[in-house]
Amino acid sequence: ETTESVRRKDGSEFPVEVHRHAQRSETDWIVVAVMRDITERRAAEQRLHHLAHYDVLTGLPNRTLFSETLKKTLTVASDKQLDVAVLLLDLDHFKDVNDTLGHALGDEMLGQLADRLTGCVRIRDTVGRLGGDEFGVILVLESGQDASLVARQIRLALRPPFDLHGHEVTTTASVGIVVYPGDTTDPEAMLTYADTAMYQAKQAGDTFRFFTAAMNTEMLARLDLETALRRAVANDEFVLHYQPKVHLGSGRIAGFEALLRWQRPGHGLVSPADFIPVLEETGLIVTVGGWVVDTVCEQVGRWIRSGIGPFQVSVNVSARQLIDGDLEADVMGALETSRIPAELLELELTETSLMANTDRTIATLEKLKALGVQISIDDFGTGYSSLAYLRRFPIDKLKIDIVFIRDITSSADDAAIARTIIRMAHSLKLDVIAEGVETAGQLAYLRRHHCDQIQGYYVSRPLPVAQLELLLAEGMRLQAPEDTDGAVHQTLLLVDDDDDILGLLQGLLRQDGYRILTASSGGEALELLALNEVHVVVCDQRMPVMTGSEFLDRVKDLHPDTLRIILSGYSDLESVIDAINRGAIYRFYKKPWEGESLRENIRSAFRHYGLLHDLPVEGLRTAYEGRATV
Ligand code: C2E
Ligand code: MG
Ligand code: MG
Repeated sequence: ETTESVRRKDGSEFPVEVHRHAQRSETDWIVVAVMRDITERRAAEQRLHHLAHYDVLTGLPNRTLFSETLKKTLTVASDKQLDVAVLLLDLDHFKDVNDTLGHALGDEMLGQLADRLTGCVRIRDTVGRLGGDEFGVILVLESGQDASLVARQIRLALRPPFDLHGHEVTTTASVGIVVYPGDTTDPEAMLTYADTAMYQAKQAGDTFRFFTAAMNTEMLARLDLETALRRAVANDEFVLHYQPKVHLGSGRIAGFEALLRWQRPGHGLVSPADFIPVLEETGLIVTVGGWVVDTVCEQVGRWIRSGIGPFQVSVNVSARQLIDGDLEADVMGALETSRIPAELLELELTETSLMANTDRTIATLEKLKALGVQISIDDFGTGYSSLAYLRRFPIDKLKIDIVFIRDITSSADDAAIARTIIRMAHSLKLDVIAEGVETAGQLAYLRRHHCDQIQGYYVSRPLPVAQLELLLAEGMRLQAPEDTDGAVHQTLLLVDDDDDILGLLQGLLRQDGYRILTASSGGEALELLALNEVHVVVCDQRMPVMTGSEFLDRVKDLHPDTLRIILSGYSDLESVIDAINRGAIYRFYKKPWEGESLRENIRSAFRHYGLLHDLPVEGLRTAYEGRATV
């Protein structure tokens, strides 16, 4: 059986399959040949071959053909001693395009992308689509040619927005590069290594990376971690710690946040920062997140039954639980099994996880909310969402992110952001909780600005259940720092790095009956200002680290109501005058100051304070209340 070509009368050829067999006639052998026109079968075979080797959407070689081409290219390269680079490219956040614009436009984008990619390489190079939004390029390198140039070109070519039937979409890509024969001579290893490098590029965000041996080690460690985590899920190696939240008004416990810990055999307690990202990437977070909800509900039920009390506990929910998992079913199941009131379960979601799949998320949250489950936004202020946008979600509470709390007593910006969040939240009838509160100063500042609750090391670290129950048995409550509520006491803060001068000023002003606080630096003074309601501050201009006028600039923003007085010599006059013109300073005294006039002016500052703030002067407990001068 052979295939041959037969010529028609008009000269055109067509393929035929020929079967021959010999037959015996009486005296001779005859050969019988049967020919079959196989034009159609050939075409079908070619179509199949094409389907098996090319990607339908883009017309580019698929993974199979790409690997075959790579093998052939390496054989040629080895003969001719050429270098070959493989670039692996993966779009960043392509899933969002599919999710928001639909698959048809996603496909359109991939088609356009394929055209741009082929535009970046020469004829002898190969571009292939390896799957999803992953593309590969085989570059035969001329001597001295650098693969990173092509990587740069590709990234440049991707920069102009894609026009998807009127929708403009911009994208970036992460590119991993591996070079033959430097990194490896094995075609399959080349693809694996390029993938490793691409993964690293993705971690770094919107860039390209050459494969390095170190990457391999890192990748292996990550694979180890992944395997260990899968085992952890199977072997129940996770535990929850609980961190108290406290009402600022009453000092009472408002509830707890459940925080995941991993008891990794041979490693001790691993913190979530080290493994949550891997749980999320692998999708394991859906299983683990379900376990967290179950465990929390069980725990809340146990506390109710044992008489410890009904406590509200919040659970962190990751975006993947909303997208890939069925959060609604998980929560309903856990509530049913534990039979706790839904109000005792709170879900913490970050702004970014809300953005992931908006419509479905809103629907899910609304159903849970209707059951009574509480919803809060975690790490608020770090995403880019506006509150107006967030109002589409059924939210009960905002958690101010720790980054704004850390320097709240010294950074005017952070303090302003925190105050704004509190005010906005209250105007939308949302509760506000501050996370990461570590000092009495932070606490007092937040309380003064009407934050509802706090959570942080100042109250307690996250604790295992047994330890927490011990504290609860002792009737744990917030030890409020010195309370400034009640009668207002005229408070004066003196700031000077020179102890002798501080002593002198204190002696001079004590007779006027103020509550006097002293600090020897701007930093220390800011801490005192956070802790105490201070009406008048007097500071020296000349101090190391932070000068007086710099300090008062901050006070102006952090505590705009406090009256600010500076003492300065003539040599520092210029910076002081600038500060006065900025409105940072209320009064300026030249040094050496004259005692009586300083006293009189501080008195008038307090009077001024009273007038500005409608404080009844008699409400201020001072020693000079009865004086004729008041
Ligand atoms: P988060 O939800 O914002 O949790 C607050 C983190 O701040 C916790 O870290 C907590 O221990 C820490 N923290 C609390 N008070 C203070 C303080 O005063 N100072 C400082 N410096 N830190 C404080 P942790 O437990 O390491 O958790 C880190 C993150 O891991 C969490 O941030 C959350 O995003 C994630 N996470 C934790 N448990 C889970 C979980 O069960 N599921 C999911 N999806 N994510 C979780
Ligand atoms: Mg949280
Ligand atoms: Mg947080």
